[in-house]
Amino acid sequence: MSNNVKEGIIKKIDELSPMLISIAKEIHKRPELAFEEDFASELLSSTLKKYGFKIEKGIGGLETAFRAAYAKGSSPVIGFIAEYDALPEVGHGCGHNLIGPASIGAAIALAESGLKGRLVVIGTPAEEKGGGKVILAKKGIFKSLDAAMMVHPSNDTEVVKRALAAIDVAVEYFGKPSHAAATPWDGVNALDAMVLAYNNISVLRQQLKPDVRIHGIITNGGAAPNIIPAYTSARFLVRALDMRDALKVLKKVKACFDSAAKATGAKVRIKIGENAYEAFRPNYPLAETFERNLKSLGIKVKKWDEYKELGSSDIGNVSQITPTIHPNLDICHKQIPHHTKEFNAIAGSESGTRGMIIAAKAMAMTGADIIMDKGLLRRIKEAHKKG
Ligand SMILES: [Zn+2]
Ligand SMILES: [Zn+2]
Repeated sequence: MSNNVKEGIIKKIDELSPMLISIAKEIHKRPELAFEEDFASELLSSTLKKYGFKIEKGIGGLETAFRAAYAKGSSPVIGFIAEYDALPEVGHGCGHNLIGPASIGAAIALAESGLKGRLVVIGTPAEEKGGGKVILAKKGIFKSLDAAMMVHPSNDTEVVKRALAAIDVAVEYFGKPSHAAATPWDGVNALDAMVLAYNNISVLRQQLKPDVRIHGIITNGGAAPNIIPAYTSARFLVRALDMRDALKVLKKVKACFDSAAKATGAKVRIKIGENAYEAFRPNYPLAETFERNLKSLGIKVKKWDEYKELGSSDIGNVSQITPTIHPNLDICHKQIPHHTKEFNAIAGSESGTRGMIIAAKAMAMTGADIIMDKGLLRRIKEAHKKG
């Protein structure tokens, strides 16, 4: 039974593939920045509508977000995440043009399979900037899902990869200007405060655990060399494998800022970003199911190191709410870094769309496993509870 269903799903996605490839190419040709993804969001949602999905646009107060739902029975509720934003200068240098079509392909194939369950595609804008999923998560958009999945194009295949919690912090120092040669003693140097703060953080690093990252830039370092700087500003990111650790470190970073103000007499203003990225919480039963399906499609999966070279992503916030997978799938077959023109070229090539079709199949097969194997869903949920 189960194999026939999966064969049917694979066949369906093969039938859909010319359409999915054309969508990926269309989106690739028209890269849209975070929160401006009108074309991609419309193309993906209108395609789902043609296959009987009910569409809601502008969910969570985000114009380019959408939810597409298909119900045949009430449970389980399987979520597919579609990203589609691009980057300045390098277009689809992160390959998000492939993520949406893979997710809608999986959802359509499952809808047409006759299996009972609810299928939901969530269109999530602004992964690269602004954290669309953080905003949608706060609005409860992912709460009803029993499981969520998406596949990210990459230069390596890694079924589970952690992501760091990340908090952004803006700091400003307010001093007093004066002539830097004639009357420097009349000034209060806001740049000195910033330099001390930067160095305080550098000293702090020695006492931090290896997973913690603090890094930043000075965005305003003063107006002219002959004026004692009256105003400076900087932005930092504080990251750790666990949000609780990141928050503890954040306290120390604030102390670094405050003490620099005290030493120089400048006034400090610290602003903590509202949309912190949560750490990625893996779900092994779900990941292992995906891996089995991926391997059955002939894809080699090496033993992965889930802690290698970590960044942050707003999928972390989804993974804290519902069991989630966010596997990386190799479309490059050599080391091409993300966020480059070279990656953009691969994301628009046959190698990119070939990976996208594989991703659609492996996700749809994983969805079928969740629907057909009640024990699996129970194990997935238990694993999520344990954290
Ligand atoms: Zn990216
Ligand atoms: Zn990305």
